[in-house]
Amino acid sequence: MNTGEIFDQVVDRVRTLDPANSRAWFDLLRLVDFNGGTLVVGCPDEATALFCEDHCLDAFTQAAQGITGHLVTVRFVVTQSHRPEVDAAPAQGVRIHPDYTFESFVVGPCNRLAHASCIAVSHAPGVTYNPLFLYGNVGLGKTHLLHAVCHEVRATQPQARIDFLNCEQFVNSFINAIEHGTLPEFQGRLRSLDVLVIDDVQFLREREQSQEEFFHTFNALYNNHRQIILTADSAPSDLGRVEERLISRFKWGLVARLDAPGHETRVAIVQKKARLRGLQIGEDVADLIAHHVRTNIRELEGALTAIYALAKTLGEPITPDLARQALGDQLPSMQKPITITDIINAVTAYFDVRPADLQSKKRSQNIARPRQICMYLARSLTRHSLEEIGGHLGGRDHSTVLHACQKIAQLQQDDSSTRAQLEELTRRIETG
Ligand code: ADP
Ligand code: MG
Repeated sequence: MNTGEIFDQVVDRVRTLDPANSRAWFDLLRLVDFNGGTLVVGCPDEATALFCEDHCLDAFTQAAQGITGHLVTVRFVVTQSHRPEVDAAPAQGVRIHPDYTFESFVVGPCNRLAHASCIAVSHAPGVTYNPLFLYGNVGLGKTHLLHAVCHEVRATQPQARIDFLNCEQFVNSFINAIEHGTLPEFQGRLRSLDVLVIDDVQFLREREQSQEEFFHTFNALYNNHRQIILTADSAPSDLGRVEERLISRFKWGLVARLDAPGHETRVAIVQKKARLRGLQIGEDVADLIAHHVRTNIRELEGALTAIYALAKTLGEPITPDLARQALGDQLPSMQKPITITDIINAVTAYFDVRPADLQSKKRSQNIARPRQICMYLARSLTRHSLEEIGGHLGGRDHSTVLHACQKIAQLQQDDSSTRAQLEELTRRIETG
């Protein structure tokens, strides 16, 4: 076997040894050198090299040793960096994850604004929306979008100085700088950036000294038209225990909320994630996973991994039955699919109306609104078509249902009490 063949086999074996960390882009990895017991693997960019180092080193080492029968050391190097040599100062913050790109992000009604504003900002940092503030519950893609901005800025404006910190890193570096008497360097480094990305700023809560430092960093960057991008788990005004002057600055630019994705978006995300891992799954399986996991997208990936692992263990293809088996252990409480009747029951109880009212021709607001909410929930929580949903609600046609869904989606954006109602109803329906 020549070294090229050995290398191909190593990559193949890694895919079997560690499917959760295997990616379709492993095809881009190249053999750089295999001499004296060291296998040097070339990666297309820094993000993939760091990912391999962090997640795949053991699998590669094990695979290489298994195939050659010798002790092997594995190293990952960057072979075709886009970054010019001149600006080699390494970023201090978060390692950019190769999976989290705009390409791998699925856009839906739940995240359209956040996505569009991230694209706009990465093409013209400091110009359009400054600061850009993204917020939403855990697992809805905030961090993913921040990584995507970093990828895009690095690819399109390699000379731009960008750093990405999570807020905890910011606070720790600040405290360190005070302890070591290096505050001027810390401040100088942050304030010379073109783009500063800080994830999870809710971490500033009750940390007054760090808030003060952050305030000055913010002002310095903002006044120099440098881009600031922030995320949090809640809207600026709901951050609590964060100084008013910071909160008001968070609202100066664009504030975009991320909502939980509907069924169709979840299906598309599962398919994207599968493709990224080089897995083949049918639409029926993607649909099933999207049905089992409804709120936190991170769990969609866990489900995919569980299914893949079971398929490997059993040596069987990924079918809906196998997927059900894999998810059954993981999520026993979510086995039963939601029906339109579940939704009608929950909505009529919540609004204190009768099912017959929803199916009637009555158009008064106290009946029409619950009916529209029913349609909207049926659309996002079940697989029924617009026609079928209309059929259950007094034989209405698909355009009426579509209109209702759009109307409620809009209210969910604009009106916090509708949002709260929808969240409560979804919780009740899902917990049965
Ligand atoms: P957050 O920072 O809001 O808690 P993350 O960005 O960490 O959420 O996202 C959690 C997981 O869900 C990640 O694996 C991410 O890639 C995935 N994810 C979230 N939204 C999307 C989306 N719209 N398209 C593709 N993947 C998504
Ligand atoms: Mg996050």
